[in-house]
Amino acid sequence: MKIIESTDAAQVCVRGRTGKSVLVPTMGALHRGHLELIRVAREHVGNEGEVVVSIFVNPLQFEPGSDFEKYPRPEPADEKFCEDAGVNLLFRPREMYFDDRSVYVEETRSGHFRGVCTVVSKLFNLLAPNAAVFGRKDYQQLAIIRRMVRDLNFPIEIIGVPTVREADGLALSSRNQYLNSEERAEATVLYRAMTRVKELVERGEHSVTKLIDAARDVISPAKRARIDYITIVDAENLEPLEKLRPSALIALAVFIGKTRLIDNLQLT
Ligand code: AMP
Repeated sequence: MKIIESTDAAQVCVRGRTGKSVLVPTMGALHRGHLELIRVAREHVGNEGEVVVSIFVNPLQFEPGSDFEKYPRPEPADEKFCEDAGVNLLFRPREMYFDDRSVYVEETRSGHFRGVCTVVSKLFNLLAPNAAVFGRKDYQQLAIIRRMVRDLNFPIEIIGVPTVREADGLALSSRNQYLNSEERAEATVLYRAMTRVKELVERGEHSVTKLIDAARDVISPAKRARIDYITIVDAENLEPLEKLRPSALIALAVFIGKTRLIDNLQLT
């Protein structure tokens, strides 16, 4: 496995490339969810192709006062993880931005994805992959990346991968390690709320208001949980739905103690 730590070296490295490559962008603290993305990347590109993993804790996508400083950065463990997973190139840039940068990739629908779109565009330009793999766990991010690739004509195929979960339903996330044992136990409310809603949909409930209330009812008893949002949207365009449609997806963000967890589930 080759390791590259600067943008200059990345550009030199990809210049001589002949085969296909697939990129898996991450912020590190790698877990089985990331491993699944790497597996799908390998499946896509075959043994002749190159699987590239990037690890960069992107300051642009953290709100001021959020967990940028304390975000886990287990560098040696991540390196071994990639090596064991059969990754060909690990891109671990020390710097990505100029202090006097003035150009960003703006995303106007939600307004929260400028940092993600900017860093992913830079990774696409630096590493010139044929395809890139993203988790459906961050469904909004995946939808916006697809939109960006369409709107800006990046010649890159975007592949979405289903969410990898713990046995009790909790979606794997680098942020789960912030949870203490009581919080970890309560963190299952996200999945329980979503599966309750799915059950109701299967029994014929079509009122979005009632479905969201049902999700609230599952979460409210958890003492350490505070709902940030619960929404039912069209999975394609992320529009909130008033009536259930075939492409409906429930998405939620819940603080468990100080840790904000997100999850989503296809309802139909
Ligand atoms: P992160 O390192 O958290 O920025 O995530 C990097 C990529 O891994 C993103 O495309 C995420 O959607 C994806 N990912 C994170 N957790 C999971 C999971 N539990 N299952 C599938 N993909 C995941």
